[in-house]
Order: sequence, then structure tokens, then C-alpha cells
Amino acid sequence: MTGTFNYRPTRAIVDVRAIRANVRNLNKILPSETGVIAVVKADGYGHGATESAQAAFQEGAIMAAVATPDEALSLRDSGIHQPILVLGPVPITFLREAIRQDIIVTIPGVQWAQSAADELQGIKESLKTHVKIDTGMGRIGVRSEEEILKLLEILEGTSAIRVEGIFTHFATADEQDTKRTEEQFRKFNRLVEYFPERPKLVHAANSAAALRFPNFALDAVRFGIGMYGIAPSEVVAQELPFQLERALQLETEISFVKQAQTKEPISYGATYETEPGEWIATLPIGYADGLKRGLRNQQVLIRGRRIPIVGTICMDQCMVRLPERLPEGEPVVLLGKQGDEEITMEEWATRIGTIPYEIAVTIARRVQRQYFGD
Ligand SMILES: *Cc1c(COP(=O)(O)O)cnc(C)c1O
Repeated sequence: MTGTFNYRPTRAIVDVRAIRANVRNLNKILPSETGVIAVVKADGYGHGATESAQAAFQEGAIMAAVATPDEALSLRDSGIHQPILVLGPVPITFLREAIRQDIIVTIPGVQWAQSAADELQGIKESLKTHVKIDTGMGRIGVRSEEEILKLLEILEGTSAIRVEGIFTHFATADEQDTKRTEEQFRKFNRLVEYFPERPKLVHAANSAAALRFPNFALDAVRFGIGMYGIAPSEVVAQELPFQLERALQLETEISFVKQAQTKEPISYGATYETEPGEWIATLPIGYADGLKRGLRNQQVLIRGRRIPIVGTICMDQCMVRLPERLPEGEPVVLLGKQGDEEITMEEWATRIGTIPYEIAVTIARRVQRQYFGD
């Protein structure tokens, strides 16, 4: 992802120490027998999957989790030798490679298990799996006692599939009302009982649940957004058992400065017009970098002050209105701290009607990641 070239000052600075601190602090509040599964899907929520996984492993994480087979393989390629779980459904064509690369896959349903058993018939090795139980997320997983019994029958008929874990996923663990989460947890515990033996990892909690309900931690928690220092929701932000440390800062530098002589139009659509004398700076960051077009009313930080974006955000650049003349090369923070000011992913998310998760994964690949604190 990080190319060889680095002539553009637009970069995402990732503080590996922050990731480590978040994992360490979570471990402190969890029961001692509970492990942390580091969720590094979508390139570690934009922070870099390998670097994030490594940071978590340094703090004793027991496993990394990703969404897709390719993400798992790329972690293996980059030298991660610890257990890797693919959370989403994988195609049957991936299973032999999963065995070769020692990647754990999720059993998303009865039909899949049958196809997997057919595909792997007669092989000597076995596929490591975790069974997904759908207790109310409505995405993937077996949903009832009947489905579990069918699944168990299939599993009994094959030695090629080994169940090492069972898990479920909460749909509303980040919301004020905890009733659904409690119901999901109860249903999960009830359904787990149908398995003749309890596998070594039974897990349910995502970041929100891990931070709010340590009593739902079971054998492991799947720590995603919180690992990067971002609260899953405003509700969770109010109830944090420890301070999360933000790991990513998005920065650039002023690339061009001019003073308007007259009322001058700025950017596509000419939706902004300067006053005579205004100082306008151009920044080398645009919507192809993740500065979404909808952020046209957002501010950036320059010399610790909030500076407004003006006019339409372009694909690769945008303009801001300076309070005074500033030099080209002046540091600009789009996400993160400068002086006493801070702009968070939550602020961007609120501005464009989404959640911080989406902001994190929208920071484009072409924005070079730089790591420090290792
Ligand atoms: C993404 C994901 C997680 C992590 O969720 P966070 O809210 O980021 O902690 C956990 N489990 C599953 C199944 C997921 O898909």
C-alpha cells in the first residue's frame, strides 16, 4: 500500500503506541481468562492491517480477525504467523488454501457446511472453523436448535472440519437500550449448549460490548473500532471504562496560496466567491483521498486554529480561507490534534450523516500511512 514514492505531503500518521495502549487497557478490564481478537478487516479500519495486528499481538492478542479470504492471505504474506479468523462467509474454493495457510474460517450456515464437507471429503488434514450463530444480527449464522442439530450431523460425518470456536454478533451493543443485546446473549448461551463439547473459543462481544459489558466477554472479545481509539457510538463514548487513544492523524501541507484581488469564484460550480483581499490556500487532498465531497462545510486545523474549507471539494485538492497570509508548506491537520484544537472522525461523520467506522475506512490507499511509536 505504501508506495515507494512520497512526494505528496498528504499522509495518515498512525501511532502504534495508541493501538497498543487500547489493547492493553482493554485487557485490564476483561476477566483474566478472556482473550482479545484484534479485528483488522478493511486494512485495519484504514490504519494498516499488518501494523495494527502486530501492535495487538505485542499486547497479547490471541488472534486476528478479517472479513475476507484475501485479507487473511495478505496478513499471512506479510509475516503474521498467529491465528487468523475470517469472519465473513468464504467460498468453498478457498478451503484448501485455508488449510494450507492455517486460516480459520467461519461456518455461516448448514448448506455451506454440507458443501464444505463434500469438497473436503477424503483429505487427511482438517479445516479449522468457528461456527456463527445468528442470535439477532440477521446477517449470517445458524439461527435455531434445528439448524444446529443439522449442522452437528454434518460435522459428525466428516473429520475434515474441526470446530474450534462458536460466536455470535450483537446488532445494538452500542445503543442506550441494552435489552436486545441481553436477549442475544441469552439466546447465544442457550444455543451453545447444543454442541456436544464446548470448543475452546466461545465469543460474542464486539468493541461496544467489550467496553460496556465485561460480563459478556466469555473466552474472547472481538475488538475492532475501539482498538484504533474510536468509540463505537456516542453512547459508548459516554460510558468508556478507560480513555481510548486515537491512533490516526490525517495531515497535509498548504500547496499554493493566493490573495483574491476582486470577488473571485472558487472551485467547481463557482459556489463560493471570495471577498477582495481574502487569502485562499489550496490543499493537496480531495475526495479521492477520503475527504468526502459532502465535507464542504468542514474545517481544517492550521496553526491550531479552525480554518474553513471553501467551495466544492475536488478529487485531489480543496481550498480553504486563511485569516491571513500563510506560507506554502504550512502544516495542516484534517483529522487529529493541532495546538489545543482537535477534529475527530466523529465530527466528520456527524457532518455527513454517517458513523466514524465509515470515515476510517474511507481514507484512500493513495494516502501514505506512516507509522511511529513502534
Ligand atoms: C467488524 C466486526 C467486529 C468488530 O466490530 P467493532 O464494532 O469494530 O468492534 C466484530 N465481529 C464481527 C463479526 C465483525 O464483523
